[in-house]
Amino acid sequence: MPVILAAAAMVVDLTYPFDARTLYWPSEQVGFQLKQLSYGKTSGGYFYSAYSMCAPEHGGTHVDAPIHFAAGGLTVDRIPLDRLVGPAVVVDVTAKTAKDRDYRVTAEDIEGEERARGAIPRGAIVLLRTGWAKRWPDRKAYFGDDKAGDTTNLHFPGLSADGAKVLVARGVSGVGLDTPSIDHGPSKDFIAHQILLGAGIYALENLASLEPLPPRGATVYALPMKIGGGSGAPARVIAVLP
Ligand SMILES: [Zn+2]
Repeated sequence: MPVILAAAAMVVDLTYPFDARTLYWPSEQVGFQLKQLSYGKTSGGYFYSAYSMCAPEHGGTHVDAPIHFAAGGLTVDRIPLDRLVGPAVVVDVTAKTAKDRDYRVTAEDIEGEERARGAIPRGAIVLLRTGWAKRWPDRKAYFGDDKAGDTTNLHFPGLSADGAKVLVARGVSGVGLDTPSIDHGPSKDFIAHQILLGAGIYALENLASLEPLPPRGATVYALPMKIGGGSGAPARVIAVLP
């Protein structure tokens, strides 16, 4: 028993709950819908509960599969499992996003992290820590705007094109961050999506607080729901600390 408790303390949940407060892209008509099918004592005398659920793929804590922005890219069910597990590399830009809410993580931010702690290994899962998680689930604070259906005034940090190219060159498995999108709020061309997903690298969006993670040493498990042919999926993302 003590062994189990010690192990549990070393696991960090990087996932938000899926419920009525889960944030979806402003253009989505509906969010996470949970419908009660049964709840209570049955005629057989035992308790029974069951629900049905419905939600867009891309909202809450989720995986973007390569096909989300790349014709012919892998669908979410076909991302190899060994790429959904990997060593975490945390790139912290909280000081920069505090001054600029549209900040884009630069190649220099990534190379600076490498100078401090060594090269990013192939197969790494790179996590961009912007500090945005503390704004969840306040839509106005998190997206920069809370007007339903309007995506013209969004403000939150993301990854630059040059930063994405460096990560492609390193051969990382995935790139995640604690904001709504790997491209910053004002983006119109979603260039970081195009570059990463075009190179077969998946993205993790709306990760919960990355504060407990050390810069290196944790192992990330990013497990999306295995939706056949999906362009992405809600995911349970956890990190096991060293
Ligand atoms: Zn997505």
